[in-house]
Amino acid sequence: PLVLGIETSCDETGVGIVRGSTLLANVIASSMEEHARFGGVVPEIAARAHLEAMTPAITAALAEAGVTLQDLDAIAVTSGPGLAGALMVGVGAAKALSVALDTPLYAVNHLVGHVGADVLDGPLAASPTDGPLEYPTIALLVSGGHTSLLLVRDLVSDVELLGETIDDAAGEAFDKVARLLGLPYPGGPEIDRAAVGGDPKAIRFPRGLTQQKDAAKHRYDFSFSGLKTAVARYTEQCTDAGVPIPIADVAASFREAVADVLLTKAIAACRDHDVPRLLLGGGVVANARIRQLAEERCAAAGIELRIPPLSLCTDNGAMIAALGAQLIMAGHEPSGLAFGADSTLSVTDIQA
Ligand code: ATP
Ligand code: MG
Ligand code: FE
Repeated sequence: PLVLGIETSCDETGVGIVRGSTLLANVIASSMEEHARFGGVVPEIAARAHLEAMTPAITAALAEAGVTLQDLDAIAVTSGPGLAGALMVGVGAAKALSVALDTPLYAVNHLVGHVGADVLDGPLAASPTDGPLEYPTIALLVSGGHTSLLLVRDLVSDVELLGETIDDAAGEAFDKVARLLGLPYPGGPEIDRAAVGGDPKAIRFPRGLTQQKDAAKHRYDFSFSGLKTAVARYTEQCTDAGVPIPIADVAASFREAVADVLLTKAIAACRDHDVPRLLLGGGVVANARIRQLAEERCAAAGIELRIPPLSLCTDNGAMIAALGAQLIMAGHEPSGLAFGADSTLSVTDIQA
């Protein structure tokens, strides 16, 4: 089926078009720059930016795919989780299209959409790891708003949340630590750059929820607020002592701590559940050290590592279209119009 997907859960207005699992268009407009002076995504600004970007993004995606609205077999849209006001713009646009075109509408889960990115093929989706997504798979999703470990037995019918952050998301930690170091927003790429030449072993920052005492209750959960506080304390000590903050060492040591925790927990999930593959998703996957450590640890453990191209790891509409197409091909019924934006949609609700 030819499916148009709409994604507006955070600061990216994403419109993608797929035919089955083949990617035909992936248009992304981001309001990230408008949030820079606030150091994080401002919900009202994001929602307004989605309104402005939506029609041009749909037009551009149709042109890129070389199809018309009348050709579409279905519309798919993110209904949650995410920022309520931002989600509402995408949901409203999708409902309007569905009614105007008399085309079935599928409301889907944003986090499961990130996993769906991995089913995409075709020249636009060229991925370092080829071949279709196999089951079961462990998925580690790391972004500005999420840090989640999923056990995916089937993309359209069986997704289990193993664990998630109990405070800050990994990307949020990058953004906050960058701020502490006087680096601009978004902090992830800045820390990656600042860490070049730094010693990752210079400072032993805490690895949240990895102690023996956390094993029972929080084996697959994450915590990054203690790490952020440790960086803050370290920089204060430097200031108090009148010595310059060794930015490269702090950035490298901080990045190492995040990468270590993420991969330790993801590999443990693979081992515990006897799953020989790990899929990464979310904007934080751009991190050079996280990618490197994922390769090292997966190779050592005999686990297949799958990382979609970065344009499909950050928020995008193509992954939503892909999930919609998978639901259709599995025989699922459309969602109708009775659903709304659900900012806390559970990952087990693959379709709303
Ligand atoms: P959501 O959480 O809803 O998926 P988001 O907009 O917060 O949406 P993304 O756009 O996927 O998430 O990712 C943005 C986050 O990724 C930011 O927090 C940013 O700092 C982080 N990031 C980007 N590049 C890097 C990098 N090289 N290293 C670490 N973090 C990075
Ligand atoms: Mg974003
Ligand atoms: Fe996302």
